[in-house]
Amino acid sequence: MSSRVNRIYFCRHCGTEVEFLQDGGGHVHCCGEEMVIKKEGSNGEE
Ligand SMILES: [Zn+2]
Repeated sequence: MSSRVNRIYFCRHCGTEVEFLQDGGGHVHCCGEEMVIKKEGSNGEE
């Protein structure tokens, strides 16, 4: 009864992408900062 959600976290510092399979909750940190969620199909950079 667990709905797993694929979330890809992206580090804007080193460019590391980490895929997590969890049902929400928790944050991922890299390079001392919180990683951002990379949306599907989104390939834009600020
Ligand atoms: Zn990083």
